[in-house]
Amino acid sequence: MSTHSTLPISGIIYDIKKYAIHDGPGIRTTVFMKGCPLDCWWCHNPESRDPNPQPRGKMRPVKNLPLLDNENNLIGTRVTTEAVLAEIRKDILFFDESGGGVTFSGGEPLLQPRFLQALLKACKLEGIHTVVDTTGFAPFKSIEMLAPYVDLFLYDIKLLDDTLHRKYIGVSNNRIIENLLKMENAGYPLHIRIPLIPEFTDSKENLESIALFLKERTRIRSVELLPYNSIGESKYERLGLDFRPGKHAMQTEAELERKQDLFRAMGFGIAE
Ligand code: SF4
Repeated sequence: MSTHSTLPISGIIYDIKKYAIHDGPGIRTTVFMKGCPLDCWWCHNPESRDPNPQPRGKMRPVKNLPLLDNENNLIGTRVTTEAVLAEIRKDILFFDESGGGVTFSGGEPLLQPRFLQALLKACKLEGIHTVVDTTGFAPFKSIEMLAPYVDLFLYDIKLLDDTLHRKYIGVSNNRIIENLLKMENAGYPLHIRIPLIPEFTDSKENLESIALFLKERTRIRSVELLPYNSIGESKYERLGLDFRPGKHAMQTEAELERKQDLFRAMGFGIAE
């Protein structure tokens, strides 16, 4: 009998990426959970936003994942924890050899706290390293409930100015900032990431204000800057949606270096 058959818990996911190398340490399997309460203009995973399965439009089906129901031409499938775990277990050898593990991403994985907790608990029982990639926009009690089973939180800070945050991300950043401070205070392991969206988040003013905030209000002294990737733009066409930010080029190496220097000058290390 399965050790997890007593958990009739399920949730909605829309993809599982194997051999991911940018979602935490080592080689990872990333589980993409559906639903996000934010509305970033530049969202690189627009198919993740709706919490329910949705018509696929011209999006390609996810291959080689029988647990995702591609037959109904929907993005997103309700799956049990056991089915997801079975998929994760296939990669344990890669985790062990690379210091990797599983990453729960989205969308916003904290939108499905019971499902996420069941998955995290089961992974920890099997000795699998766990990462949660979150926007921080969730009740702190959900974060507290999950924290004992999380080895690392990837935590995004996008815009520090709340007026701009509301305009381009659809919600106030108050909860995100408060949760970050509470998590840091509680000693939860945090890896801060700042997505560099041209003309939205990558301005000198925004980056300097984030650096100043972290320096004055936290003990965090390392950040990762995520260069812009235009790959998400084509998804909008396939989903029949407008891409609100318009077309932008990716930052050059020299531009990225200049933005990293801004943090280095304020005493931060740059994480990869
Ligand atoms: S937080 Fe991530 S998934 Fe949610 S809207 Fe923003 S970019 Fe998209």
